[in-house]
Amino acid sequence: MSKVVKFGGSSLADAEQFKKVADIIHADPERVYVVPSAPGKRFKDDTKVTDLLYQCYERTITGEDFAKAFAPVRERYDEIIKDLNLDISLDDEFVKIGQDFRNGANRDYAASRGEYLNGILLANYLGYEFVDAAKGIFFDHKGNFDADITNACLGAILEKTPKAVIPGFYGALPDGTIKTFSRGGSDFTGSVVAKAVGASLYENWTDVSGFLVADPRIVENPAGIEVITYSELRELSYMGAGVLHEDAIFPVRSANIPINIKNTNAPEDAGTLIVPTADNDTKYLITGIAGKKDFSVISIEKDRMNSEKGFMRRMLQVLENHEVFPEHMPTGIDTVSVVVNTKELGKGEEREKLVRRLKDVLRPDHFEIIDGLALIAVVGRGMRAKKGTATRVFAALSHADINIRMIDQGSSELNIIVGIDEKDFEKAIKVIYDMFILSEQ
Ligand code: ASP
Repeated sequence: MSKVVKFGGSSLADAEQFKKVADIIHADPERVYVVPSAPGKRFKDDTKVTDLLYQCYERTITGEDFAKAFAPVRERYDEIIKDLNLDISLDDEFVKIGQDFRNGANRDYAASRGEYLNGILLANYLGYEFVDAAKGIFFDHKGNFDADITNACLGAILEKTPKAVIPGFYGALPDGTIKTFSRGGSDFTGSVVAKAVGASLYENWTDVSGFLVADPRIVENPAGIEVITYSELRELSYMGAGVLHEDAIFPVRSANIPINIKNTNAPEDAGTLIVPTADNDTKYLITGIAGKKDFSVISIEKDRMNSEKGFMRRMLQVLENHEVFPEHMPTGIDTVSVVVNTKELGKGEEREKLVRRLKDVLRPDHFEIIDGLALIAVVGRGMRAKKGTATRVFAALSHADINIRMIDQGSSELNIIVGIDEKDFEKAIKVIYDMFILSEQ
């Protein structure tokens, strides 16, 4: 059985971190496929190599000399080589990158070199083979990730390569041009590799010991999440809980491979295990709380709305034509509220145009847009089996004098979503945490 291990930028920021990574890999003979990010921040105000590369690209296209613009990147790698005493030089690679820049390489190519160069170094340090992601990870001609071709090609390459380092973050278009995933995309590469080799586990090593029940910037010292299902994680990350790239669960999820989020700086911590299914008998009734601000409610009332044929369809069509995508849509008999991202409504004339169009098409008795809404999701598979979860959420909020503007429960009974005023956001998360976690500790 093989495990795929992905290390984030802070886990590979300098030689000290490289040593921790090698110790982790060598501690388990099943850790045979390694996906590195580019070197990240070594200290708080440091710059990630990926950002240095974007800067280097901007500077060279505005005419600056490549060698000068690339110097800060070069320094980072040369320092790692020196501090680890590696018997390798990247000088030829640096020359090649310079040539490619001069020949008009694109911005994605520039950014991808962070992972590419780090992969070469890590493979050398571990004694593993280096497999360029451009040889096994593919996008179609429209620039969408091509899961089938990738799975087949990468699987075939890695079948013949028992121990390999595959750089994260990028792949190639059909004509060979380099393309990157969105920022943080090495998490996705790790997941793709895990699927391609049929791994028993995808370990994602970062600088925190897994997911927390709530945002530590809001709740002091929150409890950690030991086990979470893919569906729960999806709900929480959609609502803003970070740590893992939001697309990263899909490849492994379809292959039933669990993900373990682990801390490179505290490898003994269990971290968070993300699994396809888990029993509902959880430590706490809820698994996590997350939320986001900057929502608006479009509130529409019209007598006999529910018997007017095609009302909802026409409303949704207008919204779609204006690129507005409803997040939630609680309805009454003669009312509908559409919760949307405020920025999608546009400003000034753009927003007025949308309002005019909705009024023309729907002829409502009352129409209003209320800004400044925050959404909070209380997520947990445990709530399916127990009664009273919603009551406790509402009680916590009402005791804290917080007005609930919207309520939505997903059909899977995995989450309860409430809309509240933005000014109550932090307070709401704290009181829900206290209600479900502190009181059960
Ligand atoms: N290095 C890339 C970034 O900073 C990708 C990654 O680290 O996952 O976004």
